[in-house]
Amino acid sequence: MIHDIAFVGLGNMGGPMAAHLAAAGYRVTGYDLAATARARAAARGVAVAGSAAEAVEGADLVLTMLPAGPHVLDAYRELTTAAARGALFADCSTIAVADARAAADLARAAGHRAVDAPVSGGVAGAEAAGLTFMVGADDADFAAVQPVLAAMGRRIVHCGASGAGQAAKICNNMILGVSMVAVSEAFVLGERLGLSHQALFDVASAASGQCWALTSNCPVPGPVPTSPANRDYAAGFAAALMAKDLGLAADAANATAVPAELGRRAAELFADFARGENAGLDFSAIIHALRKEPA
Ligand code: NAD
Repeated sequence: MIHDIAFVGLGNMGGPMAAHLAAAGYRVTGYDLAATARARAAARGVAVAGSAAEAVEGADLVLTMLPAGPHVLDAYRELTTAAARGALFADCSTIAVADARAAADLARAAGHRAVDAPVSGGVAGAEAAGLTFMVGADDADFAAVQPVLAAMGRRIVHCGASGAGQAAKICNNMILGVSMVAVSEAFVLGERLGLSHQALFDVASAASGQCWALTSNCPVPGPVPTSPANRDYAAGFAAALMAKDLGLAADAANATAVPAELGRRAAELFADFARGENAGLDFSAIIHALRKEPA
């Protein structure tokens, strides 16, 4: 049974996730390099340590929610020597499958256990404890981590062995990135053909063009009042994060010699779009680039 949790990386996602664990009765000790993140977490019931190494002392579970693969590997190099032998390491960041497997290898080499558990659902999902977790783990480690993840999420899917959670995450987001480009291109073409946004939505949302990018995150204002397009594309899911995830998918396609032509093209489009001031816009704002107008 897990009681003591170290939570490293208390940012937009990690902050609310750690707060839910504390509210669920776990003893949560957190750490973040940023003082503002530490202060916000402390205000939400997380005990804050003086360093990441101090946070993991005595922890049964070491959770990380960090920006990218190099941060996770650096943290694992330090924390696997600081944690008590046999601790369970669970990384929830979105990182390359190869980095997830390397992180798990580092943990196991130091006598620990390891799972990858990336999430979807964004900051709103983290705040509402409504995340989906995609878990790469053996059966025993999945059983151990599952109740903890359930305090932060609604769906916990065991995807396979180490790395399988990250694989599921980047495959899902490749579908999402490509489908957002397809939906946006269809709206732009419809505009040029004199079709109203609402008419195209009414047809496609009830026909074979139906998908989440259309019916939940519609890239034009109007048909779906809650979509980011209705609030000047305030994220939502930031274009920079979509560019990052599609980059990871393209790297994985290279490593496995998969053509993934649309996934690679979507990666290029989002990488170009998310440079500079568009980075923080919702990824559905890509429609402006596809119309070739400023966002
Ligand atoms: P964030 O930048 O808000 O938070 C990351 C935190 O890690 C920052 O507060 C930073 O100070 C801290 N940090 C960096 N290196 C550290 C270290 N060595 N020790 C301690 N703290 C350190 O990012 P986020 O939005 O919370 O995203 C975290 C991860 O979740 C990323 O991998 C991202 O791709 C993934 N993710 C984000 C979303 C989203 O909508 N924001 C959705 C799904 C997945």
